[in-house]
Amino acid sequence: MLRINELKLPLNHPDAALRDAILARLGIADAELLDFAVYKRSYDARKKSAIVLIYSIDATVADDKAVLAKLRDPHVMPAPDVEYKFVNAAKPAPGTPRPVVVGTGPCGLFVALILAQMGLNPIVLERGKVVRERTVDTFGFWRKRKLDTESNVQFGEGGAGTFSDGKLYSQIKDSNHHGRKVLTEFVKFGAPEEIMYVSKPHIGTFRLVKMVEQMRAEIINLGGEMRFDTRMQDVLIEETGGVRQVVGVRLASGEEIPTRHLTIAIGHSARDTFEMLYERGVYIEAKPFSIGFRVEHPQSLIDVCRFGPNAGNKLLGAADYKIVHHASNGRSVYSFCMCPGGTVVAASSEEGRVVTNGMSQYSRNERNANSAIVVGITPEDFPGHPLAGIAFQRELESRAFVLGGSTYDAPGQLMGDFVAGRPSTSLGSVTPSFLPAVHLTDLATSLPDYAIVAMREAFVAFDKQIKGYYKEDAVLTGVETRTSSPIRIRRNNDDLQSLNTRGLFPAGEGAGYAGGIMSAAVDGIRVAEAVALAMAPR
Ligand code: FAD
Repeated sequence: MLRINELKLPLNHPDAALRDAILARLGIADAELLDFAVYKRSYDARKKSAIVLIYSIDATVADDKAVLAKLRDPHVMPAPDVEYKFVNAAKPAPGTPRPVVVGTGPCGLFVALILAQMGLNPIVLERGKVVRERTVDTFGFWRKRKLDTESNVQFGEGGAGTFSDGKLYSQIKDSNHHGRKVLTEFVKFGAPEEIMYVSKPHIGTFRLVKMVEQMRAEIINLGGEMRFDTRMQDVLIEETGGVRQVVGVRLASGEEIPTRHLTIAIGHSARDTFEMLYERGVYIEAKPFSIGFRVEHPQSLIDVCRFGPNAGNKLLGAADYKIVHHASNGRSVYSFCMCPGGTVVAASSEEGRVVTNGMSQYSRNERNANSAIVVGITPEDFPGHPLAGIAFQRELESRAFVLGGSTYDAPGQLMGDFVAGRPSTSLGSVTPSFLPAVHLTDLATSLPDYAIVAMREAFVAFDKQIKGYYKEDAVLTGVETRTSSPIRIRRNNDDLQSLNTRGLFPAGEGAGYAGGIMSAAVDGIRVAEAVALAMAPR
């Protein structure tokens, strides 16, 4: 099979034009092209009136070698083998305790799935509820302001990405094609086939819920055990001759489960668990993250700006954007987790705190575009303790709760008022989507001064990148604090075990090794492989 990259066709080309373009590129007759499939499809929208589709194609031809010998085209080559191969690990010795995986976000689910597919029968622990019950609790919070601290946007089956836009792209290096394995499994569990080839795939919330259920069924079917409403309360560690080894976990119920292979894929919001791990002496360090607001514009404004006369084209869908501004005070301000045609959601997991995030459905047809606009911060901004970033997040989230009226409404402000430094008192043309409600106020005190100053400058500067972005009545909603984990539970590069605790495999976003659904799932595969190798007899 041959891979053809950079095959360009106009946006509205007829179906047959693709086959013709392949034949022309390969210089072969129609009968020599036995089959073809689109491996990737992206677009170049720099010229809005002449948007171009860019294909990577896998073509089966009568004679690969003859075609390659004839061509001198750097974009045509033998198609690489992207099929997932399990690591070659011998079965554990009889009596080896089962591996335990904590967390059922994308990372934990992929650790569990791969271990189950290898016949290693993982025990999976999740503090929250099964996804259907969790959905009721989460929507209950949005509508009735009743927060369940164990069952919400952050906690429960499927993890933090369940009520999300389900964006599945990532900029991680993936030389082993683990991302392909993730997409293949997602399609098997109900994701649309197109995620295999579109350049920026997304799934949307409702489909994610169904997929998570199917993944659970498969893991159980393969011999795994999944326990919900089951919080890991403590890690049991034995120290012999200066070597610390995990020997089990204690649950909130008091029950103990022996294990020597413990994956913690607990996400970035399990603050109590981070504190417990720190107290048990597990090596943890502070890491950079970002803080800011969600911003809502009309989706139509973004579509026209990005796609011009092609706005609304079905193939292009609702437009996204990515912007960055380096402010004169040295801070970088950038867009994060942009959700086209989506809604801003309440993402609190602790009482008396307000946090925002964004989600959308597969159709992305809500009227607003939303994105986090955030300022990068480093441990120098919250010095003193490896867990100081958590205290910093909590302080900002508590301030937002009070600014919002202490009812879980989010504090909000119009962009023009924010830049001018005056409180907002009434909405303009943009209706915010956040539930329960947005409480108009002045956001100037919600974040440190350096962040406010940098964002005021950035909103004006962004208008040069997206015409119309500086919109007086665009709505800002605060605060966005959980952009990534404020800590890293550092692990060895080779065996992926904690720097100072054998048998502990920190994984995914919470451990500081992923950011987003795809990178968390890919990290899950890597960690599962490391667990399988560690379980093999020496
Ligand atoms: P998580 O998904 O956070 O999962 C951790 C799990 O561990 C949770 O289910 C939690 O309940 C459980 N847990 C924690 N502590 C314990 C304990 N002590 N015992 C038992 N269980 C425990 N990313 C994207 O790529 N695309 C998007 O479109 C996107 N949209 C998002 C929208 C929202 C609203 C949110 C909140 C996040 C979004 N993200 C998105 C980010 C993405 O969800 C995360 O990067 C990803 O879920 C991280 O995966 P993870 O498995 O490492 O951790």
